[in-house]
Amino acid sequence: MTKHRTVALAAATALAATLFAGDLAAQDGTTFISMGTGGVTGVYYPVGGSICRLVNQNRREHGIRCAVESTGGSVFNINAMRAGDLEFGVVQSDVQFNAYNGEGEWQGNPYEDLRAVFSLHAEPLTLVARADSGIEHLDDFPGKRINIGNPGSGQRALFEVLMAEKGWTASTFSLAGELASQEQSQALCDNNIDAFVFTVGHPAGSIQEATTTCDARIIPATGPEVDALLERYPYYTEATIPGGMYRGTDEDVLTFGVGATIVTRADVDEEVVYTFVSSIFEDFDTFRELHPALANLDPESMATSGLTAPLHPGAERYYREQGWLE
Ligand code: GLU
Repeated sequence: MTKHRTVALAAATALAATLFAGDLAAQDGTTFISMGTGGVTGVYYPVGGSICRLVNQNRREHGIRCAVESTGGSVFNINAMRAGDLEFGVVQSDVQFNAYNGEGEWQGNPYEDLRAVFSLHAEPLTLVARADSGIEHLDDFPGKRINIGNPGSGQRALFEVLMAEKGWTASTFSLAGELASQEQSQALCDNNIDAFVFTVGHPAGSIQEATTTCDARIIPATGPEVDALLERYPYYTEATIPGGMYRGTDEDVLTFGVGATIVTRADVDEEVVYTFVSSIFEDFDTFRELHPALANLDPESMATSGLTAPLHPGAERYYREQGWLE
């Protein structure tokens, strides 16, 4: 990632030099911000691209240039922000909770400088199985070849919680794959795995790829263990993946899930976060139309729900001005 970033920065600098030839002040004054997302066929990556496009459209006024990185997902994004490599990240609401409170992956090691910016779309745990696999429910997973996700992804973190609740380990499956989200659909259609898990908004490119390339369907994740998790943790909610959205799945599918959120670091400048946030909310209709997973978003609830870490002061200032906070 460091290499990729260096290349991206070099390209951006070359571009700035062309655009502002002879205007060194503009070039020197540019503030670069990077946002960690997920795999290119997920929803984080295109949504992150849309956010950066909205920020960059007024960069001559504010001097901020936003760039998006494809990454391994939520857990990776938190750790890269903590290491100072990224200024913003898209992360699952459960991952935000665990990082800030020092639970789960961050047991005893809370990330106190994590700051919330806003929440985004719902992300149901989405189980996709080959039609010929004999898998019709989560409970059919034992003994099958399951892609449980790459370490660093939010789906891996969430699925491990579910596995523990069900008393499953990697050896419960005949294969526990660790492919990243952008690799799993091809692996499914090449018959290298029977099913994969993905915590993702809908519609997602990865799920469209799997269900149009081969016969695959979305299967339910319900049962007493899921109910126990819903009861125990504040960030899980019941979720439905609408029937008819993907080929092969005509009925609604019941599951549970989390939400996507944007986070930043306490040391990112207040003015930068204020500009970032206002770029989205001042052009909200454009933003909402940039990806179908964003269609139902409501600005005030994005600012006030699904967030665990304290709001960054730059975001808080904007929300107060809008009258969204008491
Ligand atoms: N929820 C996934 C994660 O946290 C990423 C989903 C996406 O790429 O849209 O890793």
